[in-house]
Amino acid sequence: MGARRIGLQGGSFDPVHFGHLRAAEEVRERAGLDEVWLVPARVSPFKLRAGTSPGEDRLRMIELAIEGAPALRACTVELEREGPSFTVDTVAELTRRHPDADFTLILGLDAFRDVHGWHRSTDLLSSCDLAVTSRPPDRVAEGPGALASLGLPIAVQEAFWYDDIQACHRHRSGRRLDFHPLTALDISSTTIRRLVREGRSIRFLTERAVADWIAARGLYRD
Ligand code: ATP
Ligand code: MG
Repeated sequence: MGARRIGLQGGSFDPVHFGHLRAAEEVRERAGLDEVWLVPARVSPFKLRAGTSPGEDRLRMIELAIEGAPALRACTVELEREGPSFTVDTVAELTRRHPDADFTLILGLDAFRDVHGWHRSTDLLSSCDLAVTSRPPDRVAEGPGALASLGLPIAVQEAFWYDDIQACHRHRSGRRLDFHPLTALDISSTTIRRLVREGRSIRFLTERAVADWIAARGLYRD
């Protein structure tokens, strides 16, 4: 039996929305992953000052959203430890806890553009495969030119090469980098928070149970 292949989708999920969920579902299917775990950050290294909603609310909204989707799971590993939540630590901790699993980090293109500046990025890119998805308004391509077309710094491009045989990019470490052009859903948590603050509808941007939770808890109203 081969390793269980698990996708990890990190973020602040404040709140989770159909952009996150559809990306998780499509990458799972396209990459043949057994499961995708959604990993809410305790404190995102990028949002230290912004004031994120309590972890319990963000976790609960994920659980409500994925009810009835057996291959999606909420993972509390980052909520369990003190922030900031560095992804390299998360992958290491999950690899320790689940030695039978092989992890693929799922990143929207906006996040991938920054990944080389993340804490211990070379260690991170050596510890898991990468699945990079479209993030409206930007779309990813597939094939040998997919990475070059993103206009990343040369040093970053040189950290990867194209494997003709497997038809994927690879990091120097040998780890895979695959691009997934997905159904483009131009939804962000920022937009949802703003709509709620303005008293407007968020219906059809996220699961109904999530919208109900936001209303019941009075989230994002300031
Ligand atoms: P915020 O507006 O607060 O930054 P967000 O909607 O960008 O929230 P995050 O929690 O920051 O969501 O994103 C976590 C991950 O999900 C990132 O890898 C991001 O690229 C991806 N993601 C978020 N929204 C989408 C979307 N609409 N389509 C594809 N990927 C998305
Ligand atoms: Mg974001």
